[in-house]
Amino acid sequence: MTLVAEPIQTFDPLSVRKDFPILSTESRGKPLVYLDNGATTQKPRSVIETLQTYYEKQNANIHRGVYQLSQLATEGYEKARRVVQRFINAADPAEIIFTRGTTESINLVANSFGRAFLKQDDEIVISGLEHHSNIVPWQMICQQTGARLRVIPINDRGELQLETLSEMLSPQVKLVAITHLSNSLGTVIPLDQIIPMVHSVGAKILVDGAQWVAHAPTDVQHLGVDFYAFSGHKLFSPTGIGVLYGRREVLEKMPPYQGGGDMIEQVTFEKTTYAPLPNKFEAGTPNIAGAIGLARGIEYLQNVGLSAVRAYEKQLHRYLTDRVQDIDGIRVIGTAREKAGVVSFVVEQPSISHHDVGVMLDLEGIAVRTGHHCCQPVMDRFNIPGTVRASIALYNTRQDIDRLAEALEKIIAVARTKNRTRSGSTATTTGLQDVRFPDPEGDCPETVAEELIENFSLFDDWKDRYQLIIEMGEKLLPMPVELKNEMTRVHGCQSTVHLFARKRPGTVDSLDFLADSDAELVRGLIAILQKVFSGQSARSILAFDVNGFFRKLGLEDHLSMGRRNGLAGMVERIRSHANQILSVSG
Ligand code: PLP
Repeated sequence: MTLVAEPIQTFDPLSVRKDFPILSTESRGKPLVYLDNGATTQKPRSVIETLQTYYEKQNANIHRGVYQLSQLATEGYEKARRVVQRFINAADPAEIIFTRGTTESINLVANSFGRAFLKQDDEIVISGLEHHSNIVPWQMICQQTGARLRVIPINDRGELQLETLSEMLSPQVKLVAITHLSNSLGTVIPLDQIIPMVHSVGAKILVDGAQWVAHAPTDVQHLGVDFYAFSGHKLFSPTGIGVLYGRREVLEKMPPYQGGGDMIEQVTFEKTTYAPLPNKFEAGTPNIAGAIGLARGIEYLQNVGLSAVRAYEKQLHRYLTDRVQDIDGIRVIGTAREKAGVVSFVVEQPSISHHDVGVMLDLEGIAVRTGHHCCQPVMDRFNIPGTVRASIALYNTRQDIDRLAEALEKIIAVARTKNRTRSGSTATTTGLQDVRFPDPEGDCPETVAEELIENFSLFDDWKDRYQLIIEMGEKLLPMPVELKNEMTRVHGCQSTVHLFARKRPGTVDSLDFLADSDAELVRGLIAILQKVFSGQSARSILAFDVNGFFRKLGLEDHLSMGRRNGLAGMVERIRSHANQILSVSG
């Protein structure tokens, strides 16, 4: 073990924790361990109370009312702008544009800057680490303007290849849009090296600070950025509020992004003139409570002290990295020399899908994120479908990380004892005649479903139902590798799923099917579908109320949206095979 031994002295996370009511709640009957701060952070009591007070005592629309309440709301909103200005050391409050979040901030720049300054053959440069919200808006604007999108590649550690950036930079490059801290791998980007390079060719730089701002002080003037975007909800503040910082000189030259109330100076049917900054970019009624809540979130963080937070989190991040990578069977993805906030990993020995790990951690009361983290190109670069991601904030402790590590050790140990090397994925066959398909389990889908619902009703707790599903998945008939190809792949599932169906030999219109997945829970869901559908007539499959059935099993309440979509994809595939069989059999 290479654990960091020195005590953490500069900062008292236990007293910080008391400020966040949710951290003393339970999840799945156990004290909550919240390690999904990259997705969103929890809110301190002061922010929650600020929202309540605003709606109880100050709520009115801003800028337009002559009455006291409206003036109070306007003051609160404009004060919030100044709080943000000081937080990132912008030169002027007019450089702070309130948006819905990082995504909207980037879309604003892509559309407004794009319309004003991009033309055919210009170039926008992004990096291979970007969140989809710093990829897709640029693709869209490139399509509209004829500009090209270029990507700085990343190396095996998850660091940017700066030598390639320097080769890419030319006067054709109009803007470089890059993250400050990667949400999928935790790589910290060396902006101090990049920004002078970008400016040397006359290009502008936008930094996606969504992950950074909660972890360390940010000084937009010192950095020398042209644009800086972040979201309130990742900064201990409400959802639906975010910030675009833009250098005044650049913002002045950009046209409005959206039209509407509050962004105009004068409107006639012939012509409209626009309000000065920042209103030019804030059309319509903004998220007033959100902005006021954001200011309170920022003040909370400033009271704790961002430098102390940075120092504490550095140690905690090292501890998290050490604990996770010391677990036999785990591989950390992203080993950049400079990292913060995030540790991403996969369980390889034995191979357990990231989703299964996430679900099993959830049963222990531990919240982490699994999947591609809105960074599919990063996953492609590492040739993996997704990772498990633990991401920390100022209120996390070594105890949280110990709980995570212990739960991971347990999950791996259980998987090893079960010796779950699935014969299905390695089975080979010489022809379809060798393949075994499950026999029908009852006269019709309804009878089998009744029985399953009864079995499930013996267990009130989702944990027990989950176990039952897993056990059913363990008994799946193997699906030969020859049947796992692009034709049988079910897209739209978070894990890899293949489903092969055919008309059952010797029947008029019955359906046989085999399916498999790399995710344990999905194999269980496949087993449920197989019990109900395999060997049944196409007509009865199409008539079966599958959603009602899932509801009665409790799947609707407990499966994630992604998982429900995947399940719906499998059902859709089965139904489409049933339709085909019917159309052939007449
Ligand atoms: N950029 C990064 C690096 C992120 O991590 C996220 C959210 O996870 C976003 C952008 C998008 O943020 P939002 O959904 O708050 O707009």
